[in-house]
Amino acid sequence: MDKITLSKMEFEGHTGCLDFEKTDGQKFIVSLDIFLDRIKGCYTDELADTVDYAMIYEEVKKIVTEDKGNLIECLAQKVADCVLAADGRILKVIVNISKPEAPVKGIFETMAVTIERRRKEFVVLSLGSNLAEQALRDLSGTEDFRYASIYETEPVGLEDQPYFLNTCVGFYTDIDPFELLDRIHVIENDLLRKREVHWGPRTIDIDIIFYGDEVIMKPELTVPHPRWYLRSFVTVPLRDIKDVDIEHPDDKEVSLYRKR
Ligand code: ADP
Ligand code: MG
Repeated sequence: MDKITLSKMEFEGHTGCLDFEKTDGQKFIVSLDIFLDRIKGCYTDELADTVDYAMIYEEVKKIVTEDKGNLIECLAQKVADCVLAADGRILKVIVNISKPEAPVKGIFETMAVTIERRRKEFVVLSLGSNLAEQALRDLSGTEDFRYASIYETEPVGLEDQPYFLNTCVGFYTDIDPFELLDRIHVIENDLLRKREVHWGPRTIDIDIIFYGDEVIMKPELTVPHPRWYLRSFVTVPLRDIKDVDIEHPDDKEVSLYRKR
């Protein structure tokens, strides 16, 4: 990835928990690392082929100078959202906001927060039951959920076991794909633990089917899921999720399934 840096921009801001911070104002120092795929301007020398730094500067200035909130954490989030919205080619931004004159007694150089945010992508997960939906909604950094119906699927192979329940869920997220997989494993483990007490034998498998248009081929994570199109317990619920612009295989396996 290529990186553009706007460092140590100084503004007069009013963000702070104390009343006089909101009225008097103080110095805020903002730095941005902006990440993009290979910048076309490296080859063309055209301004249109890179991010317009002056435009970003003005957008950030407006947010920082006009903000009346309490926390620089929240201000950093607003700056990150604004930078990602300012140019569709920006994939990730690291925002550092510091208050060197923060009203804290003692000797220090500055008080600062750094956050890293990536562009939101539409993600689709296949769920071996709908038990995980609430846990996914509770994650911070997920929004705008789309649900599929729950489908009951006949057990294949080992027949002497209950029907499986399958569904899919789609949502927008800025959680990194590998971090999302880690969080999924935590949810799976939590549900498995609870399941032993409250639920009968059911699979709580959560797979990442799509992560935007990204193609990831690592041993721990393959996206799109390498076998999604072969599994009708994925392809059938997937049809319910709008916004998924993919080609569905034909319907030949659908008869195995009955919708709840
Ligand atoms: P399966 O989903 O194939 O029935 P598991 O849920 O036990 O089996 O997953 C095994 C491993 O597959 C996980 O630990 C994970 O690292 C890896 N994996 C690779 N690609 C994906 C993906 N797209 N979604 C979920 N897990 C994946
Ligand atoms: Mg899995």
